[in-house]
Amino acid sequence: MKISVIGSGYVGLVAGACFADMGNDVICQDIDQGKIKTLNEGKIPIYEPGLEELIKKNVKAKRLLFTSDFARAVEHADIIFIAVGTPPRDDGGADLSYVENVARGIAAKAKKPKIVVEKSTVPVLTGERVYQVLHCSNGNAEKGKCIQHMVASNPEFLREGTAVSDFMKPDRVVIGSDSEKAKQTLKELYAPLKAKVVLTDIKSAEIIKHASNSFLAMKISFINAVANVCEKTGANVEQVAEGMGLDKRIGPSFLNAGIGYGGFCFPKDVDAFIWIAERNGYDFALLKEVQSINRGQRKIFVKKVEDSLWVLKGKTIGVLGLAFKPNTDDMRFAPSIEIINELQAQGAKVKAFDPEAMGRAKEILKGVEYCNGMYEAAKGADALLFLTEWDEFKKIDLGKVKKLMKQLIICDGRNMFNPGELRELGFNYVSIGRL
Ligand code: NAD
Repeated sequence: MKISVIGSGYVGLVAGACFADMGNDVICQDIDQGKIKTLNEGKIPIYEPGLEELIKKNVKAKRLLFTSDFARAVEHADIIFIAVGTPPRDDGGADLSYVENVARGIAAKAKKPKIVVEKSTVPVLTGERVYQVLHCSNGNAEKGKCIQHMVASNPEFLREGTAVSDFMKPDRVVIGSDSEKAKQTLKELYAPLKAKVVLTDIKSAEIIKHASNSFLAMKISFINAVANVCEKTGANVEQVAEGMGLDKRIGPSFLNAGIGYGGFCFPKDVDAFIWIAERNGYDFALLKEVQSINRGQRKIFVKKVEDSLWVLKGKTIGVLGLAFKPNTDDMRFAPSIEIINELQAQGAKVKAFDPEAMGRAKEILKGVEYCNGMYEAAKGADALLFLTEWDEFKKIDLGKVKKLMKQLIICDGRNMFNPGELRELGFNYVSIGRL
C-alpha cells in the first residue's frame, strides 16, 4: 500500500519503518528539515534499539524515503498517518495545533480521497474536528473542492526502548472509524502482524488510548501509595507486589514502586484525559489523585536524600540515570528533572551520567557536571542516586564504588539492589517501600 507518515519522531519513524518492512511503499515526512537531512544522510535522530538497521534495510530496498515536502507526501499516499506531537498545554489539555495544521494541509493539498489516520494520541472528539477540517467546514465545499476523505483513529501503543518489537508484535491493533472502507483497508494493512484487531467507532478508539495509559499510570501510583504504607509499617513493597501480581486479574506488570512515571506519554495523557472529561462534564477525581501521588513520589525521594545527608547545601550528589526509563534517550518529563532541580535549588552539586540521554539532558538540566561513566559520577560523591534502571547500572561494581565515594550513601529510586546486600557492604542504603 502507499503510505505517508506525517511527523517523523519516535512514533512516526518507527511506524514508517515497520510499515515499509511489511512491504509497503512509505514516505516519512517531517516539518523539521534538519531531522530529514540527518535521516537522508543515513543517521537516526533518536536512540531506539533496532531502528537504525530497519531503516537502512528498507531505504536500501527503496520502500522507505524521507522528505520535508508535505505536498509530495500527501500526493504519494492512499493512507496518511498523522504522527505529530500532541504536547500538553498549561491547562492540561492537549495542544492539537500540530494535528490541526496537518489536517488543514491535507485538505488543501489532496486531490483525491485519502484515508487520514490519527496515530498521534488525541483526546476523544478530535476525529470529528479532523473530519470537519477535511470536509466542508473549511470552505472547500463552497469552492466546490469537497473530497470525501475517510478518517480513522489507530492509536499507537509502542514503548520507547522496545518500539520496533512492540510495533511488530502488538498485544492488539485498535482501528476506529465510521468508514467501513477505512476500517477494512487498515485491517488489511496490519494483517501481516497477525495481531488481534479491535474494530471500533472513532471516539471509542480515541478513548482506548487515553484510558489505557491512564490505567497504567494508575497502577504505578497505586503501588507507590502502597510502598508508602509499607515504609511506615515495616512491610516490603516488592513482596506485596509479587503477592498481588500473581493474581491474574491484577497481573505483575507496572507494579514496581519507585520515583513515579514520566516520559512524553503518561503525564500528558493523564492530564489530557482529565481535561477532556471535565470539558464534557465529568470530574475524573481518581486520575487527579494518580497525578498527585506521582508528584509526591519525587518529593518523598528528595526528602530521603536530604534525611540521609542531613544538609544538602554544599554536598556532591552523583546521579546515575537521567532518561525517563532505560533504553531510550528521551528526557521529556523525566523524574530526574524535578529531582535534580530540587537538589540544586537546595544547594547541592550534581554530577550525572546516563548511557544515552546526556545529549538531550544538557539542553534541559543546567549546572550539572556530566560524567563519562558511572564510576566518574560516583567519584567524590556524598550520595549516589539511581534514577533510571539501566541494565549496566545493575551490574555496577559496588566494591569499586565504595572506594570512590566520599560518604557511603546510596539512594535507589528504582529498587535495583538488595537492601541486605548493600548494607552488608557498608552502604547506608535507601530505597522505596523497603526497609
Ligand atoms: P515527537 O516529538 O518525537 O515527533 C513528532 C514529530 O512531528 C516531530 O519530528 C516534529 O518535527 C513533527 N511535526 C510537527 N508538526 C509537523 C507538521 N506540521 N508536519 C510535519 N511534521 C511535523 O513525538 P512522538 O513521541 O513521536 O509522539 C507523536 C505522537 O504519538 C504523540 O501524540 C504521542 O503522544 C504519541 N505516542 C507517543 C509514544 C512514544 O512512546 N513516544 C507512544 C505512543 C503514542
